[in-house]
Amino acid sequence: MNKQSRKFLYDLLLTPSPSGFEAPIQRVVKSYINKYADNVRLDVHGNFIACANPKGTVRVMLAGHCDQIGMMITHIDDRGFIYFNQIGGIDPSVVPGSYVQIHTARGVVEGVIGYKPVHLMTAEERGKKTELKKLWIDIGVADGKEANKYVSIGDPVTYKLGVQELGENRIGAPACDDKVGVFVVMESLRMFSEMISKRRRHDVALYAVSTVQEEIGQRGARTSCFGLDPHIGIAVDVSHASDNPGAEAREIGSVKLGSGPTVPRGANFNHLLVKHITETAKNKRIKYQPHFAPNGTGTDANAIQISRSGVATALLGIPNRYMHTQVELVDLRDLEYAARLIAFSVFDLSAHKRFIPS
Ligand SMILES: [Zn+2]
Repeated sequence: MNKQSRKFLYDLLLTPSPSGFEAPIQRVVKSYINKYADNVRLDVHGNFIACANPKGTVRVMLAGHCDQIGMMITHIDDRGFIYFNQIGGIDPSVVPGSYVQIHTARGVVEGVIGYKPVHLMTAEERGKKTELKKLWIDIGVADGKEANKYVSIGDPVTYKLGVQELGENRIGAPACDDKVGVFVVMESLRMFSEMISKRRRHDVALYAVSTVQEEIGQRGARTSCFGLDPHIGIAVDVSHASDNPGAEAREIGSVKLGSGPTVPRGANFNHLLVKHITETAKNKRIKYQPHFAPNGTGTDANAIQISRSGVATALLGIPNRYMHTQVELVDLRDLEYAARLIAFSVFDLSAHKRFIPS
């Protein structure tokens, strides 16, 4: 991965974006992609849309969701301890003992998640599942009055943001789900615009969208897709890897880090578009992993497919270990394979290509 792309990825991972609070990360996306797009804009819902070749007659929407799971402050007690609820699907069992960051109007306030020490627990308490309502954030203040000077009810919270490089090609970070997806769709747009720069015209108008609020129900994909009214949509999200303990290939399929994005088949996807993408992968010798999704998916691909009178939809999954923990792990090569695969697949589309299943 080149230096500039890597910096963009790390900037995404280091910028907080709990669902509903995505404005800062959209500024990061804009500053990177602006020079490769013909136009960029934010919509009223907060989705960021970059367009290459707006005169094309075939509208293609790419979607990666920029929002991340998090927490929200619900109560501050007299001693200054801060209580919270979740934004999206937090796993309570990994929360105790975490470093967190509260994103206030005046900047970041650092905190830790407090927990009853194991020594002080009763035998019954030790065997119990962790509940978020039994946890609190400690920001190191003397009392509630002091806490209220720094933080407010409704402030969003994330795990402490950071990127841990692991081995030669891998990183661990909170919210690889789905900042890697935003990265991939923007890189695809950059590559596509470089590919068409020498041609006078191309049939495709490509829209790369950094969608908001996916973690609470694909809300940004729904509104942005309605607005763009695309013929074709490709979402990029993370896909559970099965090459680590705790994930069984016989249950979730064989998905390996470094072996390319997953390309699932199933009701959520247009078979002809999936075929077009997998054939492009074979022709261009880009690694991918066949995958499956027997039902609708919980991704932006779902919202896109059933927008208006239907959109020919596909999904690329970036293999991801430890989803929805603080240490989501991905292989950087999979991001590059995915971006190239989308760029070539889109470049090979034309107004003559039909996606009506028959
Ligand atoms: Zn996701």
